[in-house]
Amino acid sequence: MNNKKIGKRRSNQRTHIREAIEKAGKPLTVGEIHELAKEQSSNLGIATVYRAIKLLLEEKLIKAVSLPESEIRYEPYETEHHHHFQCNDCQSVFDLPMCPISIPEGTTFPNGFRVDSHEITLYGSCPTCNAA
Ligand SMILES: [Zn+2]
Ligand SMILES: [Zn+2]
Repeated sequence: MNNKKIGKRRSNQRTHIREAIEKAGKPLTVGEIHELAKEQSSNLGIATVYRAIKLLLEEKLIKAVSLPESEIRYEPYETEHHHHFQCNDCQSVFDLPMCPISIPEGTTFPNGFRVDSHEITLYGSCPTCNAA
């Protein structure tokens, strides 16, 4: 294979990796990204996934989501305001498209603490585990 073909294959794989992250609707681990992107690029290696993630982070197309005691996950950089829900039974992480707290940006607390953003993770049991 010539270099041009190899270059094209790489950029296709990177597109498939990016699409997997964008379509998931929840933050994915490297393993999950690999599994999903392999459906499009069957010969995709894990090293390529790591390289693509590094580049996508640098290009600010994705961002890392780190939850305590859990693998780092990745989601699209531009997302609607949302929160994450982690299942205590199966450890899966989901997006919750709602905000359970009302502290608007710009709220100030006594002694001059101005809030710009907030981060919360909710824990519980997911629909699948609830049904089991
Ligand atoms: Zn679960
Ligand atoms: Zn919120």
